[in-house]
Amino acid sequence: MAPLDSLDAKQPINSLPMKIIFGVFIATFVTAVVVSWIPLQSIYLQLHRDLEATFPLILNRVAARTDEWISDGQREVEQASTSDRIALVPRNDSEKTTRDAALLRRLRVSEQLEGFVILDSAGKPQLEIGALPLLSEETYAELFAQHESRPFYLRQTKEFALVAAAPLRTASGEILGYLFGFYNTAELGDLLSSDALKSTGEIYLATEQAKILTPVRTHPLDGRWSISNEIVTTYTNNTQIRSYSNYAGHYVLGSSRRLQNLDAVLVVEQEYETTFQTVFSISRWVITADLLMVLVFSLLGYRVTKTIMQPIYALSDAAQRITHGNLDVYLSEPKAQDELFLLTRAFNEMVKKLRESREEIEEINARLQDQNVELHYANNLLERISITDGLTQLYNHRFFQDHLAQETRRVDRSGDPLSMLVLDIDNFKKLNDNLGHSAGDQVLMEISALLRRTVRESDLVARYGGEEFVITTSGTNLEGARQLAEKIRSSVERHEFKAGSPPQIVHVTISIGVAEYKGERKNFFERADRALYRAKERGKNCVVTDVETYS
Ligand code: GH3
Ligand code: MG
Ligand code: MG
Repeated sequence: MAPLDSLDAKQPINSLPMKIIFGVFIATFVTAVVVSWIPLQSIYLQLHRDLEATFPLILNRVAARTDEWISDGQREVEQASTSDRIALVPRNDSEKTTRDAALLRRLRVSEQLEGFVILDSAGKPQLEIGALPLLSEETYAELFAQHESRPFYLRQTKEFALVAAAPLRTASGEILGYLFGFYNTAELGDLLSSDALKSTGEIYLATEQAKILTPVRTHPLDGRWSISNEIVTTYTNNTQIRSYSNYAGHYVLGSSRRLQNLDAVLVVEQEYETTFQTVFSISRWVITADLLMVLVFSLLGYRVTKTIMQPIYALSDAAQRITHGNLDVYLSEPKAQDELFLLTRAFNEMVKKLRESREEIEEINARLQDQNVELHYANNLLERISITDGLTQLYNHRFFQDHLAQETRRVDRSGDPLSMLVLDIDNFKKLNDNLGHSAGDQVLMEISALLRRTVRESDLVARYGGEEFVITTSGTNLEGARQLAEKIRSSVERHEFKAGSPPQIVHVTISIGVAEYKGERKNFFERADRALYRAKERGKNCVVTDVETYS
């Protein structure tokens, strides 16, 4: 595995550093948002409350002024209709000139009015004077229809025209016609905009269905007084502040109230963006500061994590090397005396202890191995002793029995021939008597060596007891065994044994009984032994087979 000793290495997304950096990022971000949102929200609410207090005041003030201005105009028309004793139908040119001059004077002294129209009692136009909109048949009809109402605005003209009407009577009270005074709408516009409002705010007149009546700054009427069919909002008499898209499609905060003297609504509006400009500009600063803070804290988090993680990665790497059996590990301890320093020091200490323990174990292991070898030798020796005859170093009686059982089982399965030779030294008692027991032992040892030399590797020679020996020959039938027996017998006969002290040459003979295995383990030895007995009977130093025994 590649060593992970630095944060610069490519990090998986769920690694500890990524988690820490993510945590720092989230914590900083949430804190920044909460900390900046609360004051911004309170500034926003404060501004909103300010408007809630200001808008009704402005509305009331301007409405009062407008109502008064309209009723002044109405009064002017009423006075003109009576005090000037205007003859409706001048009898001559001189009367006409006098009447027109009187009306023009009236216009000059009035702040509110800028034109007059006289209709006779049948609705026919008699006079037009001053600044007037373009008047048509429909306009006259509309004027005539409203001659009894309080101030009204004309719906048939292209531009906004506000009109006050009064009847013209004779001294006897007979109605001769009607006088219509046209208000100076520019003057009305000035009146509305005279109130202090922020540069983006405005005050205007509208119908309840949101048709704009007076010119508005951002959307001059240009001769049209109804421009706002697409406007969504409807104005109400409720001075509560609402937010909506106004006639120009601007998002505004607005409030409205009805006028007393005109069938219209006074609207005050201020653009949302301007109103909360402070909030927005503070927000921009706050967001920038927040982003910087998030960046700085994330960087800090990264640096701190790097400082923490480097020793941890080194520890992890070292631990892996230890897992793979490499105890040759030493970590340089961090400079700061902190928990990581303690951990690294403890780790180094642990590795040192492990190293010492391993050396100890290796030493013990080596010792154990030596002891094992010794034990192995001792076991082998014990085993050999347990199956070996001490004097002749041939296999002993017990081993012979085991071997015989094993061999008969084997040939029972394979059907191979198996034969046995039983040997006995002739007149051994005499030798003992003549030369001594130890000379007899020497002969026994020498004859054993001779037997071992004579037989094949696969044959087994054992000391059956005293001066009797037994040989099993695998894969050899009776005739083969007999020939082997003969060979042994003659070798012994020819051999010059050295025995006694001082040593002297001794000749020894042996008798041998031979039998072949016939599938009956119990009688096998007895048959060979009986053959040996016959050999003794025949005068010793000869070989007798089992078959001969019964012949
Ligand atoms: P035979 O020809 O009939 O076998 O006559 P023998 O004298 O050999 O008679 P037998 O086989 O019965 O005698 C065995 C003798 O072998 C008896 C004993 O003194 C001697 N003998 C047995 N074991 C040992 C031994 O370990 N060492 C010595 N030196 N002599 C032994
Ligand atoms: Mg004997
Ligand atoms: Mg004997």
